[in-house]
Amino acid sequence: MAKFLEYQGKNWLRKAGLPIPDGQVAYTAEQARDIARQFGKPVAVKGQVQAGGRGKAGIVKLVDTPDLAEQAATQILSTQVRGMPVRAVLVEEKLSIKKEYYCSIVVNGARDARTPLLMFSPEGGMDIESVPEDQIYRLNLDPIFGLQQYQAIDLCVRAGIDRQDLDKFTTFLTKLAAVYRQYDCQTLEINPLVVTEQEDIVCADCKMEIDNSAVSRHPEFGIKIARDFPGEITELDEIGWSIEETDARGTGFLMNMGFDEVSPGYIGYHPIGGGSAMMGLDALNHVGLKPANYADTSGNPVGSKIYRVAKCVLSQPNIDGYLLGGFMMANQEQWHHAHALVKVLCEMLPEKKPGLPCVLLLCGNKEEESLAILRKGLAELMTPDGPGRRIEIYGKEHVTDTLFIGQRLLELSKAYHLEKVQGKENG
Ligand code: GDP
Ligand code: MN
Repeated sequence: MAKFLEYQGKNWLRKAGLPIPDGQVAYTAEQARDIARQFGKPVAVKGQVQAGGRGKAGIVKLVDTPDLAEQAATQILSTQVRGMPVRAVLVEEKLSIKKEYYCSIVVNGARDARTPLLMFSPEGGMDIESVPEDQIYRLNLDPIFGLQQYQAIDLCVRAGIDRQDLDKFTTFLTKLAAVYRQYDCQTLEINPLVVTEQEDIVCADCKMEIDNSAVSRHPEFGIKIARDFPGEITELDEIGWSIEETDARGTGFLMNMGFDEVSPGYIGYHPIGGGSAMMGLDALNHVGLKPANYADTSGNPVGSKIYRVAKCVLSQPNIDGYLLGGFMMANQEQWHHAHALVKVLCEMLPEKKPGLPCVLLLCGNKEEESLAILRKGLAELMTPDGPGRRIEIYGKEHVTDTLFIGQRLLELSKAYHLEKVQGKENG
């Protein structure tokens, strides 16, 4: 899913007419101080990072003066949350909170529902997982008609909202449901939804995720890659997305896995399909090797698409090996993989990576023909001191043999790494 940071999500909510605190994003502590000075009142300084529980992580701070805002921002901007750097803070007018509520709309994929699901709770501010079950009020929304005022009233009455507040809450919730649909959200969570001492209802936080398949309908969002990422987008991720975006024939997935470009034991990782990808990780884990990237070429992709993915996987600097992990049995015709691999390895090994360990496991439909293509196409490279001297080709006899495949890669990659290090020492 394409996810927004809090300040981005709030911007879109504000544009849609929902109540958001006044605020501005800052990338330096000085900017944070200037914004606090402009506000001329106490502010909340909130670290912007793709993670929940920021309150607990200490990156939401309430301060009374511009100097303290600067201090808070300095500290927050030097923090990492689950390995992710905090590159911006949102400086907002501080709310005087009377009560915190929870509300969210998500997709209810249950067979008997398949609708957006509204969840509302008078217990806000904490993770929804820690809210007692009987304090969460749920309503499946009609995907066409959305949330009706009378349904919202019913939900709020069940949740114990006072009669004089009903209008405020139901107006807010019906608007929120309309915005969820307008923006093609997958998740829209406001936690806490705040009622202030002045009796205003305000979105104090915002988690907004857009349905990947709908991203192209929203050029205004400027989302470059409609895909989930654990961290920040790298160059490899952008290239990977361009392969997918420009060719719809089968899957050609490629993304970075936190490859650090210095440590030994990284393998260019090229599994075929999801189950195979899990077994491939087993193979690496068994022997202490690490995937430099994640990839997947399944769903019967054409050879050119497989070629592009494999070339990117193999082009990563500092890898100590390459694994074509065709574990399991694929019913796609595997000769497309065989042709793609012959082309890539003939291009890459002689000049750029002579001696790179390449363990090629290819099982499934047209297996015999595929293995023959590999053997024939790579024969010239695979001579004892040729650039393909560490290519090994396996078929169905090793289809679930993760330990064996891992061990082959380990042995070959150790020898390769040693050769690399010695090569450097000798000049
Ligand atoms: P999260 O922990 O990542 O979900 O970050 P939130 O934005 O939800 O902030 C965590 C908590 O900080 C909220 O539950 C509030 O109690 C508190 N908080 C956030 N913004 C403000 C504010 O402007 N004023 C006050 N008084 N409290 C705030
Ligand atoms: Mn929150």
